[in-house]
This record gives sequence, structure tokens and C-alpha cells, in this order.
Amino acid sequence: MEIGLLWSPMNEPLDLVIIGAGPAGLSAAYAARQEGLRYLVIEKGTIADTIRLYPVGRTLFSTPNELEMYEGALRPCREKPTREELLSHYIHFVLDNDLNINAGESVLDVQQLEPERFLVHTSKHDYEASRILFAIGAMAHPRYLNIPGEDLPKVHHLFVEPYAYIRKDALVVGGGNSAAEAALFLSEEGARTTLAIWREDWENRDPKAGAMKHWVRSLTLTTEEGETLTITNDVVFVLIGSDADLTLLKKLGVTTETGKLTEIPLYDPETFETNVPGVYVVGHFTHARHIKAAIDVPRRIVPLIAQSLRAGATK
Ligand SMILES: Cc1cc2nc3c(=O)[nH]c(=O)nc-3n(C[C@H](O)[C@H](O)[C@H](O)COP(=O)(O)OP(=O)(O)OC[C@H]3O[C@@H](n4cnc5c(N)ncnc54)[C@H](O)[C@@H]3O)c2cc1C
Repeated sequence: MEIGLLWSPMNEPLDLVIIGAGPAGLSAAYAARQEGLRYLVIEKGTIADTIRLYPVGRTLFSTPNELEMYEGALRPCREKPTREELLSHYIHFVLDNDLNINAGESVLDVQQLEPERFLVHTSKHDYEASRILFAIGAMAHPRYLNIPGEDLPKVHHLFVEPYAYIRKDALVVGGGNSAAEAALFLSEEGARTTLAIWREDWENRDPKAGAMKHWVRSLTLTTEEGETLTITNDVVFVLIGSDADLTLLKKLGVTTETGKLTEIPLYDPETFETNVPGVYVVGHFTHARHIKAAIDVPRRIVPLIAQSLRAGATK
């Protein structure tokens, strides 16, 4: 079965355009369907693309109840699901509910034509909608070290699988779970692996400050102080996080604040509406970052969006 252009642009404007088909966008689509809205999800990659780009076979940190779209629907073989089990769950959720998703279509611009009327310009079509929900995640821009050599073909900013690096020298740079997991996975599969990590990241035990999970900490470290180390490498993974692309939001006039590490749009904590009426934000690039919140928030706010549309219609 093809999941492609399920919705073509008609003259009739949509109630809601949802940008991004990650857990947040999928949850929003289901809620919009329940509310009887004319909605469309536009996704530049595939359904749950961020999860598709996790390392192969990766086990999630979260338990099924924090990841599933319906209670009891995600039944992994072990306590926590793998990337593949989770992806399959999200894809079947889309198929079973026949959600309106145009995959492989990028939103390039959103313009406000007048209050409650937006023009969404994509790589394929233009759409009009009364409300826009940004569920764009925070993976658009992988962070760079900005050092010489980072543009070499052997340097990667995403780790998907270790099997090309058996008996090779692999250097992983980063202080979070992704870097530690990649280093473990590479070394388990026969790559001679070095993890380069700041001492303070290694010693950090505070989960709220981004400490790596205790079960991925099982590494032997070689530390050198104040010395320049030359580490042989055939491949380098720079896994130091990524940032959302807020260009479209800012162009629409949405205000943002810059936190310790990232820039976040400002929004009403109850409704998740931004300072531009009719423009909402959910998911990984808000303060509700994890999958559980990315699913829960749209369930709460899409009915409010539907209410505001109905109120507008009866004016
Ligand atoms: C390796 C790894 C492991 C993780 N493990 C866990 C875990 O165990 N538990 C947990 O809770 N969280 C985990 N996370 C975080 C989790 O993936 C995010 O919280 C989750 O994906 C957020 O969902 P989202 O829908 O907000 O964003 P995303 O899933 O990132 O979805 C955003 C979507 O928007 C699309 N998009 C962006 N811009 C546009 C555009 N202009 N036009 C059209 N489409 C666009 C993207 O292609 C993407 O598909 C992990 C993250 C990584 C990288």
C-alpha cells in the first residue's frame, strides 16, 4: 500500500495544517480527525522520520505507555520497544486510522494572509488553512564542532549502524546518550572505538542537566589532561545534539527565547498558541520534549483549536 499524496489541494481551505509527522504530528492528526476537522499533515520525510533515523535495532529509553498512541497498542517483545517495533506501531496507527498525511513534501513558507487565514507553500502545492500547528521536531540542524576537517567524508553527524566499521578505528565525539550509545554499539560490533567526552559531561549525574543514562555508562575511559592527543581514526561521529529550524516561525512573527543551549518559541503553556494567533507549536522543540509529552499535548490542545474554529464559525 502506498502512503503518498492522500490529499490534494482543493479550493476549499483547510481548518488545520500540521507540519511534521513525528509522534506530535501524528497525535495531532488523530485528534483533528476525532474533532471532525479538515486537516492535513505535511511531512518532508517519511512517517516518524526522526525515529526511522535512530540507530538500527536501538531500544528506546521509554516504556510502551510513554510511546504508544493507544493504551495497550504497543506490545514489544521485551520491556521496552526497539526502533523497529515503535516505527511499525506508528505506521499502523496511520494506516488503521487512515490519517491524511502527505509525506515527501516540505513546507517552505507560511504566510499570514489575514487573521485566521494562512497560506502554506510547500515543495509541491499551496494550501490555505485557518490554523497552523508546527510539529517540526528539533533535528533539522545537527550541531557542528566547527573545527578543521569536519567536512571530510569520513566525518558524520548521524549514527545509524556500526557494520561498516568492523576492525576500523572509530572516534565518537559527544557527551550525551547518543554518543555513548553509538560508542558502545560500535565497540560491541568490532570497531576499535574511542569516545571523546568532556570530563564534566562524564561526571554529570543529573538527568535534568542532560546526564547520560546510567546503563550506557559502562565504558572504560582513557583520560589525558592538558595534552594534545592524536587518535587514529577511519571514521568520526560527531554526536553533540541538534537544533530546530525556527526560520518559518520567526518569519511569521513568532517570538522566541534563547535558553542555555537552544532557542525555543514562546507560547501559552495552556494552549501552546504562540504570539501569532492561530499558530501553535508542539513536540520536541518546545519545553515538552519527550515522546510522551509530544503525544499528550496535541490531545489536549487540538480540541481547543476545534472549539476556537467553531466559535469563529458562529460569529
Ligand atoms: C537517537 C535518539 C533516541 C531517542 N530516544 C528517545 C526515547 O527513548 N524516549 C523519548 O521519549 N524520546 C527519545 N528521543 C527524542 C524523540 O525522538 C523526540 O522527543 C520525538 O521524536 C519528538 O517528536 P516530535 O513529533 O516532536 O518531532 P519529530 O519526531 O522530530 O518529528 C518532526 C517531523 O517534522 C518534519 N519536518 C520538519 N520540518 C519540516 C518541514 N519544513 N516540512 C515538512 N516536515 C517537516 C521532520 O521530517 C520530522 O519527521 C530520542 C531522540 C534521538 C535522536
